[in-house]
Amino acid sequence: MNLVRTIAGAREVLAPLRSGSIGLVPTMGALHDGHLALLRAARAGNETVVMSLFVNPAQFADAGDLARYPRDEARDLAVAAEAGVDVVFAPSHDEMYPPGFQTWVDVTEVGSILEGRFRPGHFRGVATVVLKLFSIVRPTRTYFGQKDAQQVEVIRTLIRDLALEVELRVVPTVRDADGLALSSRNARLSPDERRRALALSRALATRDREQALAELAAANGLEIDYLEVADFDPPVLAGAVRVGSTRLIDNVVLEGEAQ
Ligand code: AMP
Repeated sequence: MNLVRTIAGAREVLAPLRSGSIGLVPTMGALHDGHLALLRAARAGNETVVMSLFVNPAQFADAGDLARYPRDEARDLAVAAEAGVDVVFAPSHDEMYPPGFQTWVDVTEVGSILEGRFRPGHFRGVATVVLKLFSIVRPTRTYFGQKDAQQVEVIRTLIRDLALEVELRVVPTVRDADGLALSSRNARLSPDERRRALALSRALATRDREQALAELAAANGLEIDYLEVADFDPPVLAGAVRVGSTRLIDNVVLEGEAQ
């Protein structure tokens, strides 16, 4: 596995590999089985697999959330190697946002509802860094998790609106045995908070907004940011809650295959 930290380094390593397909899996590290599902899908479908590892400050509206975000690069590199990743692109902050950086991509409508209302600028940060990763890696296919359904919708819109030549593949949400959607932020939950957090996936599993809201209202020790039906492709029932200082999001697909 190649570890590259610069844009020039990534381009150099990828240049001889461009005759074959390239699958890109963007991540912020603290890898878990959800990330692994994306890496496996990329490995199965492409000659070369690139994983990016970058905690993107531009998508954190809250400085405390960014500071607390779990980081363990050595472990992430071992997990990526084990999953058969060919190239890890782990740039520094200045490599992605050099002094004087001022060009932003804003998916205005999809990016401003739900998560966008609670995390202003979040999807502008996501869309900008993902477009930059696409420009550096020039992947044939890119892999995103249904866990972040609105992010998928933002990326799909970005690809369509700017006519980007990349295929979007969406991987179903990976959950713990008790239903909690895997998330890097789960590491911050105390055992008691983790138990309380389960109310979100349980409520969403009803696939009914009113019933889910009633269940969440009855649950102790968690604050609801929103719980809404979103007209995405496919439509989802999506929610965000705060448990202690940790904010969690999850969704269930309302049509087609249950995910
Ligand atoms: P992150 O490192 O949190 O930015 O996530 C990187 C990618 O992994 C995103 O496309 C996420 O949607 C995806 N992902 C995160 N958690 C899960 C999960 N539990 N199941 C499936 N995909 C996930």
